Amino acid sequence: MRILVVEDEKKIAAFIGRGLAAEGFNPLLCARGDDALSLATKERFDAIVLDVMLPGRDGLSVLRQLRERRNTVPVLLLTARSNLSERIDGLNAGADDYLGKPFSIDELVARLRAIQRRQSGEGLNLFQCEDLTLNLSTREVTRAGKKIELTTREFALLEYLLRSPGRVLTRTQLCEQVWDYHFDPGTNVVDVCIQRLRRKLDDGHAVKLVQTVRGVGYTLKPGA
Ligand code: CA
Repeated sequence: MRILVVEDEKKIAAFIGRGLAAEGFNPLLCARGDDALSLATKERFDAIVLDVMLPGRDGLSVLRQLRERRNTVPVLLLTARSNLSERIDGLNAGADDYLGKPFSIDELVARLRAIQRRQSGEGLNLFQCEDLTLNLSTREVTRAGKKIELTTREFALLEYLLRSPGRVLTRTQLCEQVWDYHFDPGTNVVDVCIQRLRRKLDDGHAVKLVQTVRGVGYTLKPGA
């Protein structure tokens, strides 16, 4: 896999380059956003690891330009761990995945391999529960064949529930995984989002999928 690594911090770039090469990838390092855009336009890469804060042109702008030019190369964004809006902007701009800094090479490699599997069509890009489907590639959700429009957050919540079939997930887990809060926000954000999701997914269907487990949390499974 030929990977374009766009990172201006020399130490991090070298760390990624070494790590990817050791895992059998073929990384090309680039330190500026404008250079990355012209490289990605001229040459073919299997994926781009793209930092957001860059000289020349920031990562989100590189990504938007690529997608405007109908370039569908998979892009994994490197974001500041605490910056949620950056991630949401990134996904909306067409990123395939993101990783918060600092990260381990193992995790980066795992994400790149997952991207590779999705590209070759063998990966888990389609999640299903009864007649509900979620397609990670097209970001499309359907129930009984009918398309359902979800917000970015509702989609993330549903994706997380679908990745843990039959498991009861606590509010704390959902807060951490979907909202990135590592503290109790003292609000009912999870419950409010679950209610919206439930209306969109279950209204008008005899079989309900979003289940509340009293005093514990939520799970996705067919029920009355
Ligand atoms: Ca940077």
